[in-house]
Amino acid sequence: MATKAWEAKVICTNEEKAHLWRTHKIFNKNLPFVIQQMFKMKRGEAGDDKESGQAYKIIFESIGGSQNSIAKMEAVTSLKFKSGKDEDWAKLAKKLTKKKKILFDRFEELPGFSSEFRRKLFEMSFQLISGHEELKKLWEKEHEEWAKEKLKFEESNPNYMRARPILEEFEKEVGTGFTKRRMRWHKYLDFLKSHPELAAWRGEEAVVNPIPAEGQQRIKRAYRSKKMKMEGEEFFKANPELEALDRVHSKYEIEFVRRRAIRKNPDGFRHRPTFTLPSPEKHPAWFSFKKDSTYKNLDTDKCEIQLKVITSDKEEERSPKGYTVFRFKPDKRLKGLKKFRRIHTTHKKTEKEKTFYSFFDKNLQIDREVDIKGVKLIFRPAKPTGTPYLVFTCNIKNKELTPRAKEIKWVESDEKTQKGKYKFPSDLITCAVDLGIRNLGVATIMQMHNGKLPDKPVAVNFISLDEVGLRHIKKHKKEIGKLRSERGQAAKGERSFISLQDHITDMGEDRFKKGAREIVNFAVKHNADVIILERMAGLIPDAEKQKGINRALMEWNRRNLTEWVKMLGKEAGIKVFTVSPHHSSWVCSRCGSLGRRYSVCKDKKTGQVEKRFETVGKLFACPEENCLLEVNADYNASINLHKIFNGNFVRPEKIGKGIYRHRNNEVKFSDIEERIRNRLENLIPNQLEDEIVLQPDELDSLMSPNFMKKR
Ligand SMILES: [Zn+2]
Repeated sequence: MATKAWEAKVICTNEEKAHLWRTHKIFNKNLPFVIQQMFKMKRGEAGDDKESGQAYKIIFESIGGSQNSIAKMEAVTSLKFKSGKDEDWAKLAKKLTKKKKILFDRFEELPGFSSEFRRKLFEMSFQLISGHEELKKLWEKEHEEWAKEKLKFEESNPNYMRARPILEEFEKEVGTGFTKRRMRWHKYLDFLKSHPELAAWRGEEAVVNPIPAEGQQRIKRAYRSKKMKMEGEEFFKANPELEALDRVHSKYEIEFVRRRAIRKNPDGFRHRPTFTLPSPEKHPAWFSFKKDSTYKNLDTDKCEIQLKVITSDKEEERSPKGYTVFRFKPDKRLKGLKKFRRIHTTHKKTEKEKTFYSFFDKNLQIDREVDIKGVKLIFRPAKPTGTPYLVFTCNIKNKELTPRAKEIKWVESDEKTQKGKYKFPSDLITCAVDLGIRNLGVATIMQMHNGKLPDKPVAVNFISLDEVGLRHIKKHKKEIGKLRSERGQAAKGERSFISLQDHITDMGEDRFKKGAREIVNFAVKHNADVIILERMAGLIPDAEKQKGINRALMEWNRRNLTEWVKMLGKEAGIKVFTVSPHHSSWVCSRCGSLGRRYSVCKDKKTGQVEKRFETVGKLFACPEENCLLEVNADYNASINLHKIFNGNFVRPEKIGKGIYRHRNNEVKFSDIEERIRNRLENLIPNQLEDEIVLQPDELDSLMSPNFMKKR
């Protein structure tokens, strides 16, 4: 499920705008009171005595923000509380109301509010408090870590800690009072010069060496603006011990003392989060309308909505009976709202009418159901003269799994090994994706018949990522490498060439997102129930020979792509499984024999076309006489992934160098290669592998033993 917010400008008369502002204002004016009461509860200070204080504390802790929890607040703010509930909080609340020790009387303190508005007050108060709690917890955790770091630093630098009081003298005396750093720097150098004992901080001689004549000359020659820096450089060159001390001192001051912030936080860590009470203009909390309680009849075609707003300042008229129709205009960039289709359904059992919205998800090419949760009212700027907007918070629902996908179950077949198997319907449609090296890979769709896989896939898709993008990334990577070699590596923990680096990341991201979308779209188009991907555990066996930029990019791409496919699959209602891909590209997908991958390349010196056997070869050949399959290697592996998932894939077992046991036979790589080589010499035209592009519509030729001969 994804959450999205669509914004729309409210089109209204000045009077209507005044109503909206009044609703916002009154909501914000009453919040502080409720918040303070809730804080009291939380601290155990509510009620007049200790006992009721404790009871309130327990009730507060049981509040979770949900509707039911808001009822708890209702219970403790009225003497009329009656409840048949037997839960602990209800017992406590009953006791409190019996003793007439309610938190406050809501009819007195929050007069004239309808229950919906009051509940909203309770809800928002709780949200603000718990939000603040979370921030505080985070701060405390980070503070603790910081303090630990500080202690660690102090313990590992005892020499510095001994010398520190002297340096602190300087920091106290000079402080941060200088607006010009140059002044401070001069004082600092003078201070170091006048304290030779500092030079002995690590047990060396307590002497400060003067800047030699040569250095003096350099300082003299330097530009005025560089003089200060030069002086420091020369001074430290003459006094390496002091330079080392300065380095440690700066680090400690910057990370653990933070003199500039010291007035606010005595120990130098960042500000503890503070709680600010809402106020309509300075620190607004936005009111949100709830469906069928404060808003109804949202019409996304006409752009109309009916809202319950406070139309009068008088307390007795605060609770409006009727709704006011408001018109709005959706933001142009977020056209989503206008594209919603309203769908009415009636619940089968309860016969209750339900309206939901649906929109066409362009990315996934499917219709998705949208649930509009709340409608927030905001003013920009937060002033009575500001422009009111409505923000629609929408939950975009994931598509339901296909009936067949729902039936898939994990069954543990062996109690001893705990190894199990998936049990699935006999006509499952699977989409398997083998991720290639330069291109993204090959996706194939297969439909089982009576639980068995057919000979041919229903569809094949060669997912190619734009080569241009990859080349672009490569170019930038090289650029960075060059810049680094010129300017030197960045300091540890620091990033260099940030904008260029980010650009590369963005481009890579674009690539894998595009690829993931293509995979899921392909699966959706062919009604697949399941997507099968390779499991990304440890090394990618076939990538071992790829080096440098290619490899790094590839691994990164694969990991992200898998995650992205999983996410998109969930949204599209397709189950995503990962299977161990080991040896999936070594075995013939048609007959199951052990084959070899190879590539066709041109010898740089002789210019002759060669066929080379290698683990990353782009093509695959089967040596078996009655099979002789020759296909794109990624395609072959992709078909095997279906088999692995289906449970009838036999993996070869290594028993020696280049020797494997496969289906009870001992097979040598050299033998296979021999058998294939003879054939290849005759079969393959003198064509480079990059020129051999396979298209999805060549499905039949893909399966023919000599598909390349035809070309
Ligand atoms: Zn074969």
